[in-house]
Amino acid sequence: MKNLTHTLLELEDWCSDGSVCDFCFGLNKASYQIKTRSQITNKILANDFICENCKVRFENDELSKCSRCGRLRIQSDIEYLTNKVVCRCVKRNENPEEKELPNLPHERESMSAFYERQINSLQEQLTETEEALEIEREEVVKFQEKSEEWGKRQKQELLDRIKQLEAENGNYKEEVKRLKTQLEQLTSQHTAQIEVKENKRWPWLKLRK
Ligand SMILES: [Zn+2]
Ligand SMILES: [Zn+2]
Repeated sequence: MKNLTHTLLELEDWCSDGSVCDFCFGLNKASYQIKTRSQITNKILANDFICENCKVRFENDELSKCSRCGRLRIQSDIEYLTNKVVCRCVKRNENPEEKELPNLPHERESMSAFYERQINSLQEQLTETEEALEIEREEVVKFQEKSEEWGKRQKQELLDRIKQLEAENGNYKEEVKRLKTQLEQLTSQHTAQIEVKENKRWPWLKLRK
């Protein structure tokens, strides 16, 4: 009897009036109902009320269950005088080993069982979508971190390159200056040499000038 389906149904305000949570101490207002059905026979095994807080615990799979039948533990399972936990399966003298007969194909599923099945499959889809979204969100964050890091590195590389070019440019300017001076020196030396030579070879040229 452990193949159970729990269906969470939201209570309308008018019908949650007066219903208190079955899962915690105190008289917390119930906002939901949990229907527990056998997956094999489709029979309802429990119909409990649950508050907002305990609903979160239920969704996180934190509510304890009976090891015999799989029902969720409720406060009234604890016997007031002895403080002992006695599940409904014991109170009702259910035999957990008893073979259950599945629904025959011609037996029509009840409307509420049908809707519970729909709700559960939608809930499953929603959970899957939320998980997929969460994974995608993490990927986006990772990508952003990576591109930020990449951008920083890229920027640093550019700055380094600029610095290097500036240094090279500085050196280059120095070199050009040095070369220009050298060139000027060479040019004036050369001119002087030519003048000397020409004066020696053709002294009359000087006269014609
Ligand atoms: Zn509660
Ligand atoms: Zn039980």
